[in-house]
Amino acid sequence: FLPPQWVPKLPLDPPDSIPISDFMLDEQYGRFPLHHARQPFTCGLTGCGYSALEVRERVDKLARALSKELGWRPNGGSEWDKMIGVFSVNTIDTLTLAWATHSLSGIVSPANAAYSRTELEHQLKSSGSKVLFTCLPLLPLAIEAAANCGIPKKRIYLLALPKEATGGLSAQPEFKTVDQLIQDGGKLPQLEKLQWKQGDGARKTAFLCYSSGTSGLPKGVMISHRNVISNVLQITACEKPYRDSVKEPGSKYSMTEVALGMLPQSHIYALVVICHATVYRGDQVINLPKFEFQQFLNSIQRFKINMLPLVPPIIILMAKNKALLDKFDLSSVRAIFTGAAPLGAETSELLHSQYPSWKIRQGYGLTETSTVVCATGYHDVFFGSSGSLLPSVEAKIVSIEGTEITGYDQPGELVVKSPSVVLGYLNNPQANTETFQDGWMKTGDEAMVRKSPQGNEHIFIVDRIKELIKVKGFQVAPAELEAHLLKHPAVGDVAVIPVPDDAAGELPKAFVVKSSSVGLEDNDRMLMREIQKHVEEHKARHKWLKGGVQFIDVIPKSPTGKILRRLLRDQDREARRQK
Ligand code: AMP
Repeated sequence: FLPPQWVPKLPLDPPDSIPISDFMLDEQYGRFPLHHARQPFTCGLTGCGYSALEVRERVDKLARALSKELGWRPNGGSEWDKMIGVFSVNTIDTLTLAWATHSLSGIVSPANAAYSRTELEHQLKSSGSKVLFTCLPLLPLAIEAAANCGIPKKRIYLLALPKEATGGLSAQPEFKTVDQLIQDGGKLPQLEKLQWKQGDGARKTAFLCYSSGTSGLPKGVMISHRNVISNVLQITACEKPYRDSVKEPGSKYSMTEVALGMLPQSHIYALVVICHATVYRGDQVINLPKFEFQQFLNSIQRFKINMLPLVPPIIILMAKNKALLDKFDLSSVRAIFTGAAPLGAETSELLHSQYPSWKIRQGYGLTETSTVVCATGYHDVFFGSSGSLLPSVEAKIVSIEGTEITGYDQPGELVVKSPSVVLGYLNNPQANTETFQDGWMKTGDEAMVRKSPQGNEHIFIVDRIKELIKVKGFQVAPAELEAHLLKHPAVGDVAVIPVPDDAAGELPKAFVVKSSSVGLEDNDRMLMREIQKHVEEHKARHKWLKGGVQFIDVIPKSPTGKILRRLLRDQDREARRQK
C-alpha cells in the first residue's frame, strides 16, 4: 500500500549531513521564517517564553557552555560519549537543551517524568548518560539515581519551572540551571563549525528513547537526526494542502497556529509531532507540565489554542463532560489530533456531535518509526481510522502465515518502510533481527486497510499482536512487570496481560501461580494486595496492577516456554463478557 493521491510527494531526499538543530533553526532547510514564526514554546502557567530568534541564540549559548563544562567538542569524540539524560516534566527549555546537545553531536535520552528511582536508573545506566538534567520537584529522586549510576552531583543541572509548578520548593543554588549556563555561554567564544560528512545525519543517533518493542524489556531506540527530520518533513507535507487553503489571501506565508504542549516531551509523540513538526512550521506550543482538567480547559481559552494533540483517555473525558467544557470559551479550537493508543469511532462521533466544527484526526506511529506512519488529513476524516499513509511510507499487511494481504478489510500484521524507521535497538542484535528486516519494520500491530467514502485508503488498527500494554498512551512492558513480580516470595510464576478500561484504554492484570511458600491459611485478598503493593512501591503509577491480580494453577506456555498471553487474554475477555 502507498500513500493516496492527495498526499503530496516528498519533494527531496531528507538532508542527511546536518543535525536536527540546524534543520530546526536554519531557514535554508525550509523551516518557517524565524522573524515571522510564533513564539516556539510558551509556559502555559505564566505566559512566558522566547521568540524563535531568541531560542536560536539560547541554543548557541547553551552549546558553548556545555562544551566548556563537559569538554565536549562539536567535531571531537563519539556521540555515545556525549549522552545527556533528561528527567523532567515539560519545560520551555527542554528543546533548547536537546538542540544544543545535537549541535555538539551529542545524544539526548529523555526519561518519563513518572519514573521511579529504579526505572530512571535503568535508563541512565543502559544509555550511558554522563549528565542529568532535571527539574526541582524531581531533584531528590534524580540525585539518588545519579549517585547509583556514577553521575557526579556536579553533573546534575536544572531545567527551570515557574513557581506555580514547583509547589513552593525553594531554589537549589548548588545545582546550575539552564539559564545560568546560557549566561555563562554568552561570555564564551564561538564553537568550531560542525563538519559532518554526507550520511552522518543518517548514521548518528540524536535521541535514545525507550520502548519495549514487540517483546521483552524496555530497550534504547536509536533515533537518528535524519529520522526526525524525515518525519517532520512527512508531517509538514501532509499539513500543507490544508494550511495553504486557509492562509490569508495574498499572504506570503502559510497559516500558523497555536498548539497545546501537554503530552510528555519524553514520549516520541510529543517529542517529534509537537516539539519538532509544530515548531518547524512556525506554530506556537503552549506547554503544560501535566494534565489537570480545569487548567487544560482554561489554557485553551486563555491562549486561544487551535490544535489539541491529545491521547484517547483525555478525549473520552472531554466527550463525557460537556457541561464542564461549556463553561469555557473553546471557540478557538479547530482540530484534535489523537495518537499513542486507539480512539474508538463512538467517542469521535460523540465529541463530533457536540463540537461539529472540530476536526477529530487520528495518527498512528511508534517510537521505532520516529512517530507518525499514517494520519487523517483535514479533508478526509474517517472515524475509527488512523488515516492514510504519510508521503514516502510504504506498508504491507502480512498474514500469520507470512503471506502478503493485498485486499481491503482483511486484518494482518502491519509492516512499514519509511525514512523515519529508526536505526534499531541499542546493543540488542536479537530484537533488531526480529523487528527490522530489509528496511521493513514489523510493528506488532494488527491492522487492515479500508477505503473511505472519499475513496482514499485508510489504515485501521484493529488489535495488538505484540506483548505491549498501553495505559493512557504510556508503554507498560509485561516482561518488566513479570520479572519484578517474580522477586516477590509468594509468586511462583506469573503472566501479565492487558485488560480493557474505559478511562485508561488498558490496564495491566497479573495471573499469578502461588509459590510453595504460600500456606493454605494465607488470605487471598491480602496476598493480592501485597502483590499489588510490591509493584506500587517500585514502579511508575501507570504500571500498577489496576487490572487486578488473579490466582491460577498454571501459566499456559508453548513447548518452548513462551507464555501464551493471547490465550490468557482471550480467556479473560470471555470471562468479562459473561459477567
Ligand atoms: P509508542 O512507541 O509508545 O508510541 O507505542 C507504539 C504503539 O502504540 C503502537 O505499536 C500501537 O500499538 C500503539 N498505537 C499508537 N498509535 C495508535 C493508534 N492510533 N491506534 C492504535 N494503537 C496505536
